[in-house]
Amino acid sequence: MNLPYQTEPRTWDVIVAGGGTAGAIAGIAAARAGVRVLVVEALGSLGGTGTNAWVTPLMRNVSGGQNLNRGLTDELKVRLHARGDGATDANGNDNWFNPEGLKMVLEQMLLEAGGEVLYHTHVVAPILSPQATSDKPQAVTALVLHNKGGLQAFRAGVLIDATGDADVVMRAGAPFHAGDEDGVHQAMSLRFTLAGVDTARLCAFLGRHGQPQASPDFLHFWMVWGRKSSLEPLFREAVAAGVLEERDGDYFQGFSVPGRPGEISFNCPRIRADLNDGSDPWHLSAAQTDGRAAIDRLTAFCRASLPGCETAYIGTVAMMVGVRETRRIVGEYTLTLEDILDCRRFPDSICRNHYPVDIHSVKGGARLLHERDGAAPYFAPDAYHDLPYRAPVPVGLRNVLVPGRAASSTFEAQSAIRVQQNCHTMGEAAGIAAAWAARDHGGEVRAVDIPALQTEMRRLGGNV
Ligand SMILES: Cc1cc2nc3c(=O)[nH]c(=O)nc-3n(C[C@H](O)[C@H](O)[C@H](O)COP(=O)(O)OP(=O)(O)OC[C@H]3O[C@@H](n4cnc5c(N)ncnc54)[C@H](O)[C@@H]3O)c2cc1C
Repeated sequence: MNLPYQTEPRTWDVIVAGGGTAGAIAGIAAARAGVRVLVVEALGSLGGTGTNAWVTPLMRNVSGGQNLNRGLTDELKVRLHARGDGATDANGNDNWFNPEGLKMVLEQMLLEAGGEVLYHTHVVAPILSPQATSDKPQAVTALVLHNKGGLQAFRAGVLIDATGDADVVMRAGAPFHAGDEDGVHQAMSLRFTLAGVDTARLCAFLGRHGQPQASPDFLHFWMVWGRKSSLEPLFREAVAAGVLEERDGDYFQGFSVPGRPGEISFNCPRIRADLNDGSDPWHLSAAQTDGRAAIDRLTAFCRASLPGCETAYIGTVAMMVGVRETRRIVGEYTLTLEDILDCRRFPDSICRNHYPVDIHSVKGGARLLHERDGAAPYFAPDAYHDLPYRAPVPVGLRNVLVPGRAASSTFEAQSAIRVQQNCHTMGEAAGIAAAWAARDHGGEVRAVDIPALQTEMRRLGGNV
């Protein structure tokens, strides 16, 4: 890189690029393992897609009646519940949370553990060690960052690339996958909330219209064209009246949010199909404008057609576009659809998953959507598959780990492992492993003792 930059005099054992769903947890886990940790985050709070893209609730990842993700995920839930920012519904589902509360909890946990955070800072590019040899892959010796201080190089023993887009790995020149076989990505969404909703009336209306709810505090309602939603006739009328566009019914889903009475969080609108690459700045920017226009239409629809929403107003438009999938590293192991369907176990497992393949396709009905049943072993209620430690280890780099949605997986497999609780667990494993690699192995992430890592994760309440 030819631009001049200053070198920060301090060094860290572990720098986490991106304080999102996986990265914040990785930072906490690494700091608790006793090393110097810095989390570098583009925005002004932790949690990434789970907070700043307003993705709530956590998707369930249950097998045989047990939540497969424990460890730090459990602690998050306990702390969220204690603040009134988490809740358990009548079915025992404890995955409901308030994104604003999660920002607080993550930040407190990181700082309490002795970790540091640098907000409003973008990771620009890695600085690499001299060329790799056949027995020694290249190391990232520092990250060039950009913030109000200009360009600065920050040095660390191990780098965790938790940008979700594998920004560090890509700029290091290491290989990655992106999109499906045609390079097309999953749909993006711009999530928003409606506040000022009379949830008791909305609950009663949904009950009368084919979507009975257990309680006005835990609403979940939806409409997807052709999926037999009881709300489809209302959407048809709204499209005919010009209130909605046809594509506004491609995916519509609303959820209650604990700690925010009278507010509904929407897992929509879906962004225009041709704007599907969340690693393309022009797509991302256009997604904001496209999404905001759709939010205006959906708000008008809710006010006009959903009793209880007549005087509702836009509470939040997520500051991050919701990006489901962009780049995925080529790791030491690439998880496949077959691994999922066959419930494959791996000796170096760091995470267990039973969330299904869930592709929000921009290609229409020809693609897998919610594939929740079939003859494969995976569809047994007590089934799960493992995710190996090798999936977050990028080929060609010796001191980098990539937990989260950019871990090495095929397009289909990524759509299953990407949910937040799995990102937490991957982050926890990566944080501990990074700390040990920095402290004991000169940064070499392949030298980490995997049985010891699994034992440590279990000691911390993990389910591996
Ligand atoms: C619309 C939508 C709905 C979803 N629904 C659900 C759901 O209901 N439940 C569920 O469990 N999962 C859901 N998911 C999946 C899940 O939320 C994500 O896959 C997961 O949160 C991704 O975590 P991550 O850590 O990989 O990335 P992120 O959480 O996105 O974290 C990446 C972080 O890195 C930062 N960053 C990026 N680039 C840089 C850079 N160059 N420099 C500095 N910082 C950078 C970002 O600001 C962000 O904080 C959904 C996803 C989307 C998009």
